Amino acid sequence: MQEFKKALEKIRDANHIVLISHRHPDADTIGANIFMHIVLENNFHKKVTSVCADPLPATLLFITDDFVIQSEMPKNYDCIITVDCSTKEQTKFTNEMDSKITVINIDHHATNTMYGDINIVDPLAASATEMLYTIFENLGIKYSRHAATCLLAGIYNDTGSFMHSNTQKGTYITAGELQSKGADIKTIVKNLFKTQSIEQLKLWGKVLSNARLNGKGTLVSKISADELDETNASPRELAGVINYLNCVPESKMTMLLSEDLNGNVQGSMRSGNGDIDVSSLCEQFGGGGHKKAAGFTIPGKIVSQEFWRINAA
Ligand code: 5GP
Ligand code: MN
Repeated sequence: MQEFKKALEKIRDANHIVLISHRHPDADTIGANIFMHIVLENNFHKKVTSVCADPLPATLLFITDDFVIQSEMPKNYDCIITVDCSTKEQTKFTNEMDSKITVINIDHHATNTMYGDINIVDPLAASATEMLYTIFENLGIKYSRHAATCLLAGIYNDTGSFMHSNTQKGTYITAGELQSKGADIKTIVKNLFKTQSIEQLKLWGKVLSNARLNGKGTLVSKISADELDETNASPRELAGVINYLNCVPESKMTMLLSEDLNGNVQGSMRSGNGDIDVSSLCEQFGGGGHKKAAGFTIPGKIVSQEFWRINAA
């Protein structure tokens, strides 16, 4: 609460605020960004610039609507607000984060490194957008139907349409309130869960057929840069497929390894039928996330290994 008061004072004093989303953007970070953009412009009368280092997939453009998200930082701003970014590296703009400009860090990742000057971090929140709903509800601020759509899109995304264990009683209530405010559920569901290119279907097919269950209860799959190339899909079209891998009853943990086009291996991990904290595993590889959903990125390639054993009679 103290942090929130400090943030509010800083926002009131600022003239030009930059809102930053994390790289490889998803509906939570973009929904939070555009929601804040609308509120800061309309209710606080600020000059606002939205930034995300990576381009947005077409399925997130219903959130940006007429707003622009630029890939570079603007000039002459006096406050930075990051949304849904657990580390400053996830913004890409590490130099700017270390400058004299005040950074307000609004996030819900348990592994958040508290890199801001003001840190509003709630690991119990299902999404950054759920946090923003609560914050602005407490301030009694009214906002447009589109702003409500931005928040609900983030909640749908991070709860996997209310299926993940981060979905709580309050999450359903918030979603209901946002629907009352006019959030466009049909468009959210269509874009986030019912739009797939043929290339993406082929990519998911390869990921599913590469799945292996090891003897220790870990389900593993991979996609190499060559396999990615064969499908013509982009690496970001992998988003979502891990939910299908993470369904095998014998599996306590799921890991998807994928090579990107820049010589990196991206690891995605999910805790399955068990209580493994995958975020602490990912932290060992310089990544992070939530207890049950986390990831890491390391330079390198995936090497295939076969193990053979003779069970003597
Ligand atoms: P996903 O597997 O869906 O890409 O990511 C699951 C969670 O892990 C998300 O909350 C995401 O922010 C986090 N995550 C994924 N990759 C990385 C990474 O390279 N670094 C950090 N710090 N978090 C990551
Ligand atoms: Mn999030």
